[in-house]
Amino acid sequence: MKIDLHVHSKEISNCGRLSIEEIIDLYTKAEYDAIVLTNHFNSETAAILRERGINDFHKAFFDCLDQAAAIGKEKGLLILPGHELRFDCHPKNDYLVFGMTPGHCRDWQKICAMTEKEFSEFAAAEGILFYQAHPFRNGMKIVPPEYLFGIEIKNTHPRHDSRNEIAAAWAEKYQLHKIAGSDCHQTQDVATSAILTDHTVATIQDLVHILKNDLYTIL
Ligand SMILES: [Zn+2]
Ligand SMILES: [Zn+2]
Repeated sequence: MKIDLHVHSKEISNCGRLSIEEIIDLYTKAEYDAIVLTNHFNSETAAILRERGINDFHKAFFDCLDQAAAIGKEKGLLILPGHELRFDCHPKNDYLVFGMTPGHCRDWQKICAMTEKEFSEFAAAEGILFYQAHPFRNGMKIVPPEYLFGIEIKNTHPRHDSRNEIAAAWAEKYQLHKIAGSDCHQTQDVATSAILTDHTVATIQDLVHILKNDLYTIL
């Protein structure tokens, strides 16, 4: 299966230019089997949605995922839930999170108020995978490797230099799990990266299993 682990849609991500319908259409044409919708999950995004009259950030976030999953099912593209999380204490760093359920983050303010260390402990206890996204982009600060399950070693966002070769070397040095993603925000970003797996992924639990056990290669 060909899966993009890092995709944004405009309903939630203010920087996103593509609707879930457009994303599903483009990724289906690109012959992907699945994508993880990793919309921004942070206080700033919640505040922007509030300005647009959307007061329940948690509901809007998961409604978007549910709608995408339903449209994807119709079109033959599996849509899995993810988060690109940001903590209030480090408002420039981004983290990709897989396996965080609506129940885990119902109190989203509490999640965003955590430190990386606190979230790392929470994630480990709950079976949630915690990766730092594009850790060597300008303005980012790499967090201590012991807090992370892994890092994104290939991020193909064309309007940023993610210094992927440094990220790959860092992951190697600290034996962190490695992931890749397009960080898709607009049409030119679609389908620029993927992971490939021989295993069947039908649910987010299946994805967590293959990520946890490194049962994939990076394209
Ligand atoms: Zn973004
Ligand atoms: Zn992103």
